Amino acid sequence: MADAPVSQSNERPSKRARPIPESDADAPVQRSNTYWFDDGNVILQVESTQFRISKGVLAMHSPVFRDMFSLPLPSNEPLVENCPVVLLAGDRSEDWLYLLDAIFPAEYRVEEKPAFAELAGVLRLSKKYDIDAFRRGCLRRLKAEYPDSLAEHSALPKEVEAALSTLRAEDRAACVLGHLKMIAAYTPHRWLKPEIHIPCADCVQSDECDSARQDVLLKQAIAPLSIIGALFDEWDDDWSEDLCEACTRRAKQIFKETQEACWAKLPSYFGLPDWDELRRLDIE
Ligand SMILES: [Zn+2]
Repeated sequence: MADAPVSQSNERPSKRARPIPESDADAPVQRSNTYWFDDGNVILQVESTQFRISKGVLAMHSPVFRDMFSLPLPSNEPLVENCPVVLLAGDRSEDWLYLLDAIFPAEYRVEEKPAFAELAGVLRLSKKYDIDAFRRGCLRRLKAEYPDSLAEHSALPKEVEAALSTLRAEDRAACVLGHLKMIAAYTPHRWLKPEIHIPCADCVQSDECDSARQDVLLKQAIAPLSIIGALFDEWDDDWSEDLCEACTRRAKQIFKETQEACWAKLPSYFGLPDWDELRRLDIE
């Protein structure tokens, strides 16, 4: 493990860049309503939330906690209600809620689809704390539901789009947030940027191609959804019908290149590890 995930001091958890705004950074410490067991023997503090659970349960799932709990407590360790307090720096309390929901299911688990945020949260923590069975379960889900190549994704039947409308509210929210980050950084319609790419260096009719590009730009600007969706779009021949051959080639090339570049960064927009890491985890 590159950096120590835990600290038993009373310092605040160290801050680090994270996709979700840290709105409650200075909030007073609160006990979890759900996971505060009176017979728990350790308190985990994540951001401003404390969970009181059993060392044995954590140790059963995670060798990281097993090792930690096998060390004797320092004699001057401050205790709260007789429990040591373990600060989990860099973790998110909502991820811990998802993980604890998975460890302590409230009902006999039916095969229901986890929300994307739940999957991402449990994956993050199961990787950090080496909870192998949970990590493999998350990766199986991810692989089945989110193919990891653009070609595979494009080959998916169109009912995937219909399925989007049936997603749970938090999944749809995660999709919209991811999209916002994505279009802030990228759009395959980069080829429409004024006077940079089109007319191209080999253009044979620069006035016509420039005005054709502006026409498409206007149409795209009043239909922002088509820009958002363009990651998975095929090139539309309407866009290039008034462009010369050289400009068409150049525009298609930029479109394709930026699609690939965005695909490569896609997991990051949703707070997931990158494709290489996801694939590597998959093989073990
Ligand atoms: Zn041209």
